[in-house]
Amino acid sequence: MAGLNDIREVNRLRLLEELRRAGVADRSELARQTGLSRATVATLVADFVARGAIVEESERNGAPGRPSNRLRLDPSAATVLGVDFGHRHVRVALADLSATVIAERRIDLDVDAGSKTALDTTAELAATLMAEAGVGGDRVLGAGMGIPAPIDRRSGRMPSASILANWEPIRPAEELAHRLGLPVRVANDADLGALGESTYGAGRGFSDLLYVKLSAGFGAGMILRGALHTGATGIAGEIGHLGVDPLGVICRCGNRGCLETVASGYGLRHVLAPTHGPGLTTARLLALADAGDTTVLAALQRAGTMVGAVLGALCTALNPAAIMIGGDLGAGSAPLRDAIRAELRRTALPPTGDVVLHAATLGDRAEVLGAITLALDETEWLRSADLVAVARQWTRA
Ligand SMILES: [Zn+2]
Repeated sequence: MAGLNDIREVNRLRLLEELRRAGVADRSELARQTGLSRATVATLVADFVARGAIVEESERNGAPGRPSNRLRLDPSAATVLGVDFGHRHVRVALADLSATVIAERRIDLDVDAGSKTALDTTAELAATLMAEAGVGGDRVLGAGMGIPAPIDRRSGRMPSASILANWEPIRPAEELAHRLGLPVRVANDADLGALGESTYGAGRGFSDLLYVKLSAGFGAGMILRGALHTGATGIAGEIGHLGVDPLGVICRCGNRGCLETVASGYGLRHVLAPTHGPGLTTARLLALADAGDTTVLAALQRAGTMVGAVLGALCTALNPAAIMIGGDLGAGSAPLRDAIRAELRRTALPPTGDVVLHAATLGDRAEVLGAITLALDETEWLRSADLVAVARQWTRA
């Protein structure tokens, strides 16, 4: 009877997956979307409801006749982890199947210094959050993880040896998976910011969206036609390494005059070192701008003009509907965004410059929420192993 059990299991997974994708559905919608018969759907739903994996609520819409029974996954049936590495911090969050964060922690950490401490610390944070929330390892499906460097999707490695140089030559997802005992998906941090903003933030409702992360580093994530666009190898969006100044300083990528050397936290600190010393933090820089420091405001104006020219070119090339400016520097500085907007409007081919442009709304949580989305949306690997395991648990007595 193994064959019959296999078919039942495949059907169960199709139903669970469809319900997770849809959020809420009734039995006839599930039958239509999965291609299963109404009788099969009714049997499977009854089984899941009895075991608490699916919850059912009656809904009367004022229409005569039987109420329509709406079904949804019990969000607490399983969880995922989201991990966001910056150059100077790590944030870990535990979320249920509805992407509601149950527990979250952020700590300052010199991530650039090396992968071992950063990944060990992350695994400890994850264990702490699971213990706090009372979630056992068997209830965690997997993790999504963002890192502040280009990631080659084919190899899972970081192809630019000089960005996160002390992490070389590891595959970050494999290393974290080994520590957590869970499947881990990795993506670039700005890509996850784009995913977070477009799913939960100001980017909702825009199918073509650019998310620009202006922080210690500088990168962008692109949502095109409703999906994250990472290019042929996963590197698309590294606009911080577009050359904007042939006479500029050497960038940590090895090229000269990259946008990041004038318009990121690193870049502005370097630009302002002669007048403000070598240790200018982004928080201090933003406070000086608020207080009207003319040198700082001029540096922000110049940075914004260079970013605006690049985004204007991207508007002409890609014609997005919206641009969200995130990261502590980008979301925190109105003068910087004003300069970006002015130069973008001046340089983009009309009407592509009439793009919605404002600060990202999720603040420094966009990336971790994107990591949670990545973990939940990767149904391919959930299907392959872990949702199967959870479904088996749900069908045990
Ligand atoms: Zn560069």
